[in-house]
Amino acid sequence: MKTEKSNHKDLYKILQPREKHWVGDGFYVSTMFSVFAEDYKHITPFILMDHAAPKQFPPTQQKLGVDVHPHRGFETVTFAIQGEIDHRDSGGGGGRITTGGVQWMTAGSGVVHEEYHSRDFAEKGGIFEMVQLWVNLPSQHKMTTPRYQSMNKEDFPVVDQHEGDIKVKIIAGEYAKKKGPAQTFSPINIFEVFSRKAQALPLEFQDQTNTLIVQLKGESQVAGQKLSMGDVAIFKREGTQINLNTSEDSHLLVLNGEPIDEPIAHYGPFVMNTNAEIKQAVLDFQAGKMGQLVEEAD
Ligand code: MN
Repeated sequence: MKTEKSNHKDLYKILQPREKHWVGDGFYVSTMFSVFAEDYKHITPFILMDHAAPKQFPPTQQKLGVDVHPHRGFETVTFAIQGEIDHRDSGGGGGRITTGGVQWMTAGSGVVHEEYHSRDFAEKGGIFEMVQLWVNLPSQHKMTTPRYQSMNKEDFPVVDQHEGDIKVKIIAGEYAKKKGPAQTFSPINIFEVFSRKAQALPLEFQDQTNTLIVQLKGESQVAGQKLSMGDVAIFKREGTQINLNTSEDSHLLVLNGEPIDEPIAHYGPFVMNTNAEIKQAVLDFQAGKMGQLVEEAD
C-alpha cells in the first residue's frame, strides 16, 4: 500500500490569553501575540496583535483613546468590531472606522496620529471591541510614503460555507477565488471567520508561509487541539492545509503571510531593521519630520 505524505501544516504552539492593559484610556487590550516576546520565525510578517475584548463604556463627553504618537517602518491594521474609532494624522487626514470596517495604515517613513472612540459612540456609550494588528514592511518599503486604506464593512467579499453556517470575510488575499480589497507590500491573507454552528472549514495556503488563528470568541479545534477564547494557534511553515473545526457562535481571525526573514530592531512605535535606523527614527520624530497634528477646529 502506498503511504501518502501528509501535507498538513503542523501546529507549532498555542498561546494562552494574557493579562489586559490599557492603551491610553480607551483601549483595554490583551496582546494576543508579539514577536518582541516570542517566536519571530513563526509569526513574521506579522509583528503583534492587540485585542480589546467586548467592554461596556458609559456615555461620556470625554475623548477616550490614545493621544498623538508616531509610527515608522510598518503598518497598523485596525478592525472596528463593535463601536467606532476616529483618527487624525499629520498628513491632514482623518476619518472614522465604522463598525465592521478596517483601516490599513502604512506608516512607512513616518506618521503622527491619534486614535479615539468616535465622538458619536462616546456620546451614546455601548459595547466596544477592536483589534489592532501590526504588519511588518520588507526593508525596501520601510520608508515608503505613508498611506491609508479605509475599508467599510460592505467593501469586503463574504463567502458563505455550509449554507451560511460559516461566513468568511476576506480582508486581504484570496479565499475561494474571491479577493480581499486590502493592498499589501508582501503576500498576505487575512480572513475574519464567523460561525453560527459547529462546522469544518478547510484552509489552504502556500508552503513555507506562516499562519496564525486567533480565537476572538467561542471555541474551535485545530490539529486535534482545542482553541478557547483568547487563544492563538501558531503553525509551522511547512505544509499547505489546515483543518479548522469551529464551534457554534464563534469568531476567529485567520492570518497567513510570506515570512519576512530580515533582522528586526524595535523601539516603542518604530519597527526597523537596525539600531541605527531606530536612532534616526527618534531624531526625525523629535525634529518634526514625521509631521504634527494641526489644532482641531471645534
Ligand atoms: Mn497608533
